[in-house]
Amino acid sequence: AAVIVAIDGPAGTGKSSTSKAVAAKLGLGYLDTGAQYRAITWWMLTNGIDVKDATAVADAAAKPVIVSGTDPAAPTITVDGLDAAGPIRTQEVTAAVSAVSAVPEVRTLITDLQRSIAAEAPNGIVVEGRDIGITVLPDADLKVFLTASPEARAARRSGELKGKEAADLAATREALVKRDAADSGRKTSPLAKADDAVEVDTTELTLDQVIECVVTLIEG
Ligand code: C5P
Repeated sequence: AAVIVAIDGPAGTGKSSTSKAVAAKLGLGYLDTGAQYRAITWWMLTNGIDVKDATAVADAAAKPVIVSGTDPAAPTITVDGLDAAGPIRTQEVTAAVSAVSAVPEVRTLITDLQRSIAAEAPNGIVVEGRDIGITVLPDADLKVFLTASPEARAARRSGELKGKEAADLAATREALVKRDAADSGRKTSPLAKADDAVEVDTTELTLDQVIECVVTLIEG
């Protein structure tokens, strides 16, 4: 039977690296749901939609066609057929994504898309995000909630950024904490741990240790 794994948690806890590696090890698909919210946000920004205007965002939400490739070795994301992998990682998109993803119409559309991708994965899938265990896939076989101290998360995220941005650890920490507060505080499907999720604090763990821990949880 297909194995469905939900991995949630705030930014910088190692969700993407862990989820990709676990999926590759076990022959499962991989879905980065944050990339989908970033993709719709990028489309809003490039199409002149005011991302602070929830009604405008809701009205436009169904227009972009977002397609996610679920191979953990080479995940892809396109918007209206355009490769969005690069543009969705800009600071502009990162700063706007919490507002766009708080709009209920956006969440309904993206949630439906996520469920159909998960249902079609032949061997199963690892889905990472903020609301997967509670809202998107409440019947997942395993739910993991990753946490880490704000310092550890900012240091990891800084390491992923290049040059000038990487140098500014304090600004990275501030932006992360602000985004988590917005994601945790929204009314529709806020970032939260499901009651039946296993919480793993990654602050003192290496990536390999976190991967091993999740693989062990899946294999039982
Ligand atoms: O995981 P990542 O940091 O790329 O996610 C970007 C943003 O997308 C989050 O800060 C959050 O606003 C939104 N998101 C969400 N629900 C998810 C995944 C991401 O609201 N399941």
